[in-house]
Amino acid sequence: MRFRSGRHFLQIPGPTNVPERILIAMGRATIDHRGPEFAEITLGISKGLQQIFKTRDPIVIYPSSGTGAWEAALVNTLSPGDRILMFETGHFATLWSTIAQRFGLEVVFIPGDWRRGVDPAAVEVTLKEDKRKEIKAVAVVHNETSTGVTSRVSEIRKSIDRAAHPALLLVDTISSLGSIDYRHDEWGVDVTVACSQKGLMLPPGLGFNAVSQKAQAAAKKAGLPRSYWDWEHHLDLLSSGFFPYTPATNLLYGLREAIQMLQEVGLEEVFARHDRHAEATRRAVRAWGLELQCAHPEEYSSSLTAVRVPEGYDSNELRKIILQHFNLSLGAGLGKVRGVVFRIGHLGDLNDLMLLGTLCGVEIGLSLAKFPSTKGGVTAAMDFLTAENKIKG
Ligand SMILES: *Cc1c(COP(=O)(O)O)cnc(C)c1O
Repeated sequence: MRFRSGRHFLQIPGPTNVPERILIAMGRATIDHRGPEFAEITLGISKGLQQIFKTRDPIVIYPSSGTGAWEAALVNTLSPGDRILMFETGHFATLWSTIAQRFGLEVVFIPGDWRRGVDPAAVEVTLKEDKRKEIKAVAVVHNETSTGVTSRVSEIRKSIDRAAHPALLLVDTISSLGSIDYRHDEWGVDVTVACSQKGLMLPPGLGFNAVSQKAQAAAKKAGLPRSYWDWEHHLDLLSSGFFPYTPATNLLYGLREAIQMLQEVGLEEVFARHDRHAEATRRAVRAWGLELQCAHPEEYSSSLTAVRVPEGYDSNELRKIILQHFNLSLGAGLGKVRGVVFRIGHLGDLNDLMLLGTLCGVEIGLSLAKFPSTKGGVTAAMDFLTAENKIKG
């Protein structure tokens, strides 16, 4: 590839931009992962992570992508033939259900139109009908990254409680943790699944499971085969700061820095920034005369926006032109919405001008690709951000 001046705009919804502070933190010699300095680092990270997950439960850290952490949540809590309730909110929820099927779980898959989140009423009805309590777990994707739809986990918790059902609650927060308000303890989540390369601003390579007491008790009886993903040895060693096998040492240096950075700003302010950038993006989309994939304003995602292209046009064509002209990467439409949507990632390390640069790339790209759309999206986003900055003072 020929040199291109200026920086690449990585505006896919993960991996996200890795800040220089994190890159520098990772660029030091790897140390003995069974030595005292390492244990100190791990113990600090454990505490910091608990603040981000809003939990007092232990958090298992794997050298893995998010998919590994998905698998870990299933194999540690369930047995072959167990029933699991899942919802077709989009591509990622579908992938997770495929893993469950491969392990011989019986997936009760509630179909969806990929424009809405999990319907809390459907959770309640389905669990109430399950008189013999055969459903052992409810698994939901908090922020569906293929559609830009955020499910209401607190409402889902209330539905499970109203049905007085003992099922475990497993939640994928891969594209919401550190970007959108999430509360493992308060929402009574049993396993929170996450990974490093989205809101935590790290490169790919770390997977997480936050594990409740109830999930730990379920693990004692769970019969699915597991070895690498087994929580037991992780949990035994966690309080001493060690791992059962070699951890991703340098990514952990980065994680320590990321936690520090999130703490310096404060999680609430980080969430508010994501909300602002998402709202600015939606205003741009509407001004362009395009449609949001998310059909329910209560479920708009603050970490990404999926935009539908006009009927008969291919979103990949637009993405290609934008990459070619502006060195800007946007997310592709996945699965059922391939070619139908493109996705603007606005999570992680981002500021107003990075977002506006991204929106400029899209607006000019729409024009270059000759997609039917109107101008003024960037202006609408600028107007909104101007007003917001006045409020902030
Ligand atoms: C990115 C993502 C995944 C997959 O994570 P990998 O690290 O690619 O394995 C799963 N779920 C959601 C919601 C995601 O955004």
